[in-house]
Amino acid sequence: MRVLIVEDEPNLGQQLKATLEGAGYAIDLATDGEEGHFMGSTENYDAIILDLGLPEIDGLTVLDRWRKEGRTAPVLVLTARDSWSDKVAGLDAGADDYVAKPFQSEELIARLRALIRRAAGNASAELTAGDVRLDTRSGKVTLAGEPVKMTAQEYKLLSYLLHHKGKVVSRTELIEHIYDQDFDRDSNTIEVFVTRIRKKLGQEVITTIRGLGYSLEDTNA
Ligand code: CA
Repeated sequence: MRVLIVEDEPNLGQQLKATLEGAGYAIDLATDGEEGHFMGSTENYDAIILDLGLPEIDGLTVLDRWRKEGRTAPVLVLTARDSWSDKVAGLDAGADDYVAKPFQSEELIARLRALIRRAAGNASAELTAGDVRLDTRSGKVTLAGEPVKMTAQEYKLLSYLLHHKGKVVSRTELIEHIYDQDFDRDSNTIEVFVTRIRKKLGQEVITTIRGLGYSLEDTNA
């Protein structure tokens, strides 16, 4: 899952980026409203964390523009502490949730996880397909109850497919959602990750749809 952070305080932005990368997300960071608006308009994110007080273009205007452009990515706004007017204005402009500063990173991650899950139509924090189970809270994967060690990229790819279970996901879509923009993107590496995931979880877990991409079906269904 790929997330855009728009935050102008350098320490907070970098710290958020590192925390969320540690939690298994691909992160892009924009440090002003203009850059943030551009990135959110041109890239496909699974969620966006948007500070409201930003240089160049303020956060509310950025959000309003995205919504008018038809960008539907879930947006979590960072508001000033106890500012109810910020929260109301944020929700009215099309935000899906908010966190007031200062916040605990655990709360932010939990809210982000819920936003991404709901946007993909999943109510549960545990995603399953057959004997494969991925817990989005702990970042752990099990096969028939046994823990399976995954690399960060394998986890990101599996998580994206599980969030979109039953749909055909193209390689381009996978590349867009598991790598941040600075990553050297190569569509052949997707094939390598899929092969490794199949070795760990079973050949049948990911189906290749020739010419279209990949699909993860519920083998028990
Ligand atoms: Ca700010």
